[in-house]
Amino acid sequence: MSVKTALLPADDPAAIARAAEVLRRGGLVAFPTETVYGLGADALDAAAVGRIFAAKGRPADNPLIVHVAAPEQARALARSVPPAAERLMSLWPGPLTLVLPRAAVVPDATTAGQDTVAVRIPGHPAALALLRACGRPLAAPSANRSGRPSPTTAGHVLADLDGVVEVILDGGPCAVGLESTVVDATRPVPMVLRMGGLPLEALRAAVGEVDVLSGQDPEAMSRSPGLRHRHYAPRARVVLVAPGEAAALGGPAVAVMSQRPRPPGFVGRWQVMPAELEGYAHALFAALRELDAPEVETIVVETVPEVGLGRAIADRLRRAAQG
Ligand code: AMP
Ligand code: MG
Repeated sequence: MSVKTALLPADDPAAIARAAEVLRRGGLVAFPTETVYGLGADALDAAAVGRIFAAKGRPADNPLIVHVAAPEQARALARSVPPAAERLMSLWPGPLTLVLPRAAVVPDATTAGQDTVAVRIPGHPAALALLRACGRPLAAPSANRSGRPSPTTAGHVLADLDGVVEVILDGGPCAVGLESTVVDATRPVPMVLRMGGLPLEALRAAVGEVDVLSGQDPEAMSRSPGLRHRHYAPRARVVLVAPGEAAALGGPAVAVMSQRPRPPGFVGRWQVMPAELEGYAHALFAALRELDAPEVETIVVETVPEVGLGRAIADRLRRAAQG
């Protein structure tokens, strides 16, 4: 079934009111956050949440992040709030998702049947205005077709979900450009399940000891279901190489993402990525979509140092290359 998609300015109160109305009757609205654009629906309405999975083609075993406007609203979704979670909540609003024990009000559809629920307060004025206007917690995964690079502009959302989502609120490019850091806050020592827009170093500086889920951990997949799935992949094949190695790999069907300048005589597209990791994160998903032109068969990406935001960037690049 196809709907007429309305593209509306996110800073217009009338647009927010209209989008909130769509959400209250169980519809889908894409909205900007500081991380990426989210595809929102009422998190407590199983039928509305089902529409998110259908719109994205998302595997039903991959749970959704619930967005709220205030800490009290997050506490209402949790069976209990462990001490570690209380400390971590001081970092909201921001690119940080907390996994908490789930209260009975949250439907199985939202948590993919897990007995935990993932919650965050986004740091974007339009997202907060929408949450307040509709008065419901909003389940909102990234507003892309499942497996594709996450959308960081309203145009990316339109490219993937035109005719599927009722309203897209256009708030311009997302400031961070990477999804939130997901932390399991049910444990005595919190554990990062997915690297993201809040760097590990910043988390540790704010709350002390923090573990990181190891990819070798046999339990890893069950604790962080999103890790099981293909993600962030353009249509072209993505190949990772060390910095400096892309220069030798040119060709008419090649595109390169590198922090270095285009070498003289290089054949193919060459996208210079920002040297600063914040700028790199901001530009990453747009660059993957931009370089994914019809004539491009291979996108060669030079890796980044795995410190600060570089950990999340490297994670997304590895998963794009697994496609
Ligand atoms: P996305 O919204 O597409 O950025 O993906 C949401 C991420 O949060 C995925 O990696 C999920 O596995 C993770 N997530 C959501 N809910 C839970 C939960 N209850 N426990 C563990 N991870 C979760
Ligand atoms: Mg996603």
